[in-house]
Amino acid sequence: MIHKAHSGKIYDTAIIGGGILGLWAARHAIKRGENVVLLEKRKIGAGASGGFLGALMPHMPDNWNAKKQFQFEGLDTLEGVITELEDETSISCGYRRCGRIMPVTNEKLFGQIERRIKGAEENWQRRYTMTLRQVQNNDLINPDIAKFGIQDDTLSARINPRQYIAALDAFVRPRCDLFEGAEVYFLNVQSAHGELKLANGDAIIAARIIVANGYEAYPLLQPFMGEANDGKSIGRGVKGQAVLVDFAHNDDLPIVYHDGSYVVPHEGNRVAIGSTSENDWQNGTSFDEENMSFYEKAIELVPALKDAPIIGRWAGVRPRNTLEGRGTEPYFRMIEGHKNLIALIGGFKITLGIGHNASNKI
Ligand SMILES: Cc1cc2nc3c(=O)[nH]c(=O)nc-3n(C[C@H](O)[C@H](O)[C@H](O)COP(=O)(O)OP(=O)(O)OC[C@H]3O[C@@H](n4cnc5c(N)ncnc54)[C@H](O)[C@@H]3O)c2cc1C
Repeated sequence: MIHKAHSGKIYDTAIIGGGILGLWAARHAIKRGENVVLLEKRKIGAGASGGFLGALMPHMPDNWNAKKQFQFEGLDTLEGVITELEDETSISCGYRRCGRIMPVTNEKLFGQIERRIKGAEENWQRRYTMTLRQVQNNDLINPDIAKFGIQDDTLSARINPRQYIAALDAFVRPRCDLFEGAEVYFLNVQSAHGELKLANGDAIIAARIIVANGYEAYPLLQPFMGEANDGKSIGRGVKGQAVLVDFAHNDDLPIVYHDGSYVVPHEGNRVAIGSTSENDWQNGTSFDEENMSFYEKAIELVPALKDAPIIGRWAGVRPRNTLEGRGTEPYFRMIEGHKNLIALIGGFKITLGIGHNASNKI
């Protein structure tokens, strides 16, 4: 039981959700000297952040815009903040700037790739490159798919999401009030202080509320934002699944990406393979053995993985906002008309690469 409302304690910041974004928000607030409470319905890392893919892949560097700049800054600075976190917690996050290769399937793509190469020169601050090259013997990519070569970039990286969460948890937990099994179901932000009501009947009072509970944030925020979307739903969850295989390698391989399939090499002879996108689902965390076409596609792309035993299966639900753009980008901002209420919600693919910056901008 929590009973903070009864004890009269008023927190500076209450954070709902112990995924990558909630944990980063907590780390920043703690470093600013704030008094923080973090409320997690299940366990830390139980949501979309607790998978094993961990691809950190940049948007294409042509047609540059503010969104791509923000993502670039996230990927560029992540290595430094990870080193700091690892030093503080003695937990490795399994980060490596591994690069990414993508097959070129059609010569008509050459013009587009030339624009990307030029875009990388202009926008990646000359520290990372994109190139077009021939398939080499040590590339694991299927040469029948990479008929016209490979697009290769040096900015992409990978991280082990579970170790990353464990490191953030190790920093945050001893420095704030952190409650697992604490489901927030209602928010009241009418007065100067916000009030959070919990499913067990307790209440928490805080000067500022950060709503960072993934796709489950939408129903909590809907009463404050419905008008922004003409009363329609402001977002939904999209389920995805992935597998982990045991494959001997020297941890010097790049990510291989093609047509929605990605193969992400990790330490300890692990390779993660993803992923699916389902709008209609009943159970967000149950792995559906029938839904393995993503794996078959990945094996066609990287045939060397054919006999690698599957040692892990994972399903999770990522948030998709229906308020703006394609909805696949993270959504982080103050809620209009409510200075003490902040939305901090992840998106598809890129959230692990920008979580440290997104949570610092709000
Ligand atoms: C199959 C798949 C593959 C992916 N691959 C990648 C990838 O390679 N790279 C990448 O960057 N991103 C990837 N993503 C996306 C990324 O995982 C998510 O965008 C990100 O983890 C979302 O983080 P979050 O903190 O917003 O939410 P979550 O990690 O979902 O955390 C939300 C937390 O809030 C808790 N919660 C929910 N409701 C309540 C409540 N009412 N009260 C209290 N707590 C609550 C949940 O239990 C959960 O722990 C992938 C997602 C999926 C599904």
